Parts: sequence; structure tokens; C-alpha cells
Amino acid sequence: MINRRYDVVIVGGGIVGLSVALEITRRFPRLGLLLLEKEDRVARHQSGHNSGVIHSGIYYKPGSLKARLCVEGARAMVQFCREHGVPHQICGKVIVATSEDEVPRLEELRRRGEANGVAGVQTIGPDQLLEIEPHARGLRALFIPSTGITDYSAVCGKYAELIQVQGGTIALSTAVTNLRCFSGDVIVETNGPTFSAANLINCAGLYSDRICRMAGEKPDATIVPFRGEYYDLVPERASLVRSLIYPVPDPRFPFLGVHFTRRINGTVDAGPNAVLAFRREGYRRRDFNLNEFAGAFAFPGFWRMAAKNWKSGVAEFHRSFSKQAFVRALQRLLPEVREEDLVPGGAGVRAQAVKPDGTLVDDFLFVPSGKMLHVLNVPSPAATASLPIGRAIADMAAQNFGWQ
Ligand SMILES: Cc1cc2nc3c(=O)[nH]c(=O)nc-3n(C[C@H](O)[C@H](O)[C@H](O)COP(=O)(O)OP(=O)(O)OC[C@H]3O[C@@H](n4cnc5c(N)ncnc54)[C@H](O)[C@@H]3O)c2cc1C
Repeated sequence: MINRRYDVVIVGGGIVGLSVALEITRRFPRLGLLLLEKEDRVARHQSGHNSGVIHSGIYYKPGSLKARLCVEGARAMVQFCREHGVPHQICGKVIVATSEDEVPRLEELRRRGEANGVAGVQTIGPDQLLEIEPHARGLRALFIPSTGITDYSAVCGKYAELIQVQGGTIALSTAVTNLRCFSGDVIVETNGPTFSAANLINCAGLYSDRICRMAGEKPDATIVPFRGEYYDLVPERASLVRSLIYPVPDPRFPFLGVHFTRRINGTVDAGPNAVLAFRREGYRRRDFNLNEFAGAFAFPGFWRMAAKNWKSGVAEFHRSFSKQAFVRALQRLLPEVREEDLVPGGAGVRAQAVKPDGTLVDDFLFVPSGKMLHVLNVPSPAATASLPIGRAIADMAAQNFGWQ
């Protein structure tokens, strides 16, 4: 029995689903909107297990959605935090080249930053680096003054509050279990009531491809989960890091390499690495789900990705099991850090879309299809970019669903 009909149902109470709901309830207040989240609170997965960085937009290919929405999103996020009293700080960041071969890549990042409109980026030498981060070492670095930090769980809490003030409904502990079409509506079955909706927007993060398949679609990409593990610097050594110290990333991967992040609560963490997870919401090394593991193994793109990247995959696994190897990677940026300065911290799992040919989808990917719209790849910097992502998806929905 259908419990209630809505104009639009959003699946997923992470920062992306919430930002879409925030924008729709603001722009189309007459639409009946329901957001379904399977956990008992919002931001329980990627949006509540990340580094908390407001990225500047320096890394991303000029002209990509990531570049445009990140630069716009960083400004919007700072303004949102200011307006709503969410703790944040513009602390700046350094990206440090520690070997000669990284220097041209650092310059390429600077060019990207300029092309993307990131303000105030400076190339600095070892002495200036010491003035900004007294314990960091490198041949050359980029200083990006506009990078900031915040608490994205708190941001999500505020988005949820505003959605409800604007007339939207959020149903927690409600997992979508099946989707079907009937009489021109989407029928949304859950572990509780069944709903019907004129339209549906899938923002299910680590399960977005599964929701897409539930809708009878064949998505062009499959989600592969990559766990990112952190260590925390012990409080008495937190002074080794003033704000954010990053390596020059390997351009073949979408991940940034292990780095130091000062959190908005003053603690400092190191990480995250990027290890293949054997369960989509597997936060511990021992987490394993046979069904999900078998699904990944049956996907040809998984094997092609593994064949292309097995060397770095093995190195990441080694770093996951060997604290010594993890610390060695960190010592390239901060030679004084020692194993005893670090204690195990949290972990997050990234939803990375992989194509059947084994390539990792680099840009954000939103796919409209009939009465639905699927958000299939929104990795970092999607928390930073969440507000313009919400606007872009609401624009797409308005156009495809005929909203006035
Ligand atoms: C380790 C790590 C570090 C990161 N660092 C940064 C950073 O510093 N800065 C930055 O900008 N970005 C960062 N990111 C990226 C950012 O966190 C993500 O891009 C963003 O949170 C994605 O949001 P989301 O809403 O798509 O996914 P999620 O937050 O995962 O939300 C998806 C939601 O869908 C729900 N769901 C799934 N299936 C169902 C179902 N069947 N029914 C109902 N609900 C369902 C889930 O429970 C979940 O709450 C990081 C990510 C990770 C993992």
C-alpha cells in the first residue's frame, strides 16, 4: 500500500542529497519533497568521514565540473558557514615538492589554479615554506591562502534544519529497497512505508550505482569503494603542523596522497591513504561483505583497473598494514614526525566510479534518465562544492522534469 505521494523523492542524506533538497525547497517551495536516509542520522558516511577541508580548486582540470563547482563552492561554503555560525577557518595550505621530478608537476598545479581562478597562489622556496610551516621540508612549494577547514557533519546538520524549515521532509532509518514505475509515477519501496513520487533523485553515494540498477538502468560506471585511513598526531606533537601540508599528487589518481590536516577542533591528522575496501561501508580492515566483494570481482572494469594500477595498489596495502611505511611517506613532508607521534585515527570510504574499461571517472557525473536523475560520481571536492552541486542538479531536474 502506498503511504504517501510526493513530487520528488531524494535518496541519500549525505551532503549532496541534502544540498539538492536545500536548493529545491528554496527554489520550488510548492513541490512536496521527501528525503530518505537509511541511517538514523544524516552525514553518517562520506559526508561525516572526511578531512574537513574547504578545497580551493587548484587540482582540477580547467573546464571540468570539479574545477568550476569547487572554486564557486569554496566561496559559497565559507559564506554559508559565516551566515549560519558553522565553525570554519581560512588557514591556507602548502603543497610541497620534495624531489626534482615533482617540481614540474607543482608548476602544472599552479597553472591549473590560475586557469581555474584560484586567488593568491604563490610559488615559494624552502625558506618561505619554513615561515609558513616551520617543520616542513621541501625543494619548492605552492602556498594557497584561500584553503580552509570546517566540520562537514555540522554543515549537513544545518542543511537538514533549513530543508525542514523550508517545508521538506526528511525520513531517517528508511532504506530504499526497490524502485518500480506504475501509472507514470516512481514507486519507492523501503524497509518501512512505500511512497510514490513524480520524480526521484538518486544521491546514494556508495550505493548510487545500486539504486540506479534498482531503477532498471544500466549505469555506465560501477562504484568501487576506497578506504582512507588516518592517524592522529598525539596532542603534544600537534604543534608540528600549523595548518595543511600536502604532497604533490600523482596525476594518474584522483586521490591526493597522505597529508597533514589540522581539524577545526584543533587536532591534527595524517592520511588518508587509499586502499581498496572489501565492503562499501567498510571502515575497518577486517570488514568484508561477500555479496559486495563478489559484485566487484564480477565487474570487468575492476580487473582492468587492478591490472593498470596494481603497483600503487600493493604499495597502499603495504602502507595500510605497516605503520612504518605510512610514517616514511609522511616524513618526506615532515622529517621530524616519528612513529610514536601517531596513534590510529578514523577512516572514511570514498565512492569512486570506475568505467568498464578500468578508468576511474575523474569528473562529477550526473545522469538524467526519464523521471529520475542519478548522481553517480561525486568524490572529493564534493563536500566543498556541495552548494553549487545542489544548484546544478536542481537546474538539471527543473529542465528534465518540467518544473516551473
Ligand atoms: C576519506 C575522505 C576524505 C575526504 N575529504 C574531503 C575534503 O577534505 N573536502 C571535500 O570537499 N571532500 C572530501 N571528501 C569527499 C566528500 O566527503 C564526498 O565527496 C561527499 O561527502 C559525498 O557526499 P554524498 O552525499 O554523495 O555521499 P554520502 O555522504 O556517502 O551520502 C550518501 C547517503 O546515501 C545513503 N544511502 C545509501 N543507500 C541508501 C538507500 N538504499 N536508502 C536510503 N539511503 C541510502 C547513505 O546512508 C548516505 O548517508 C572526502 C571523502 C572521503 C571518503
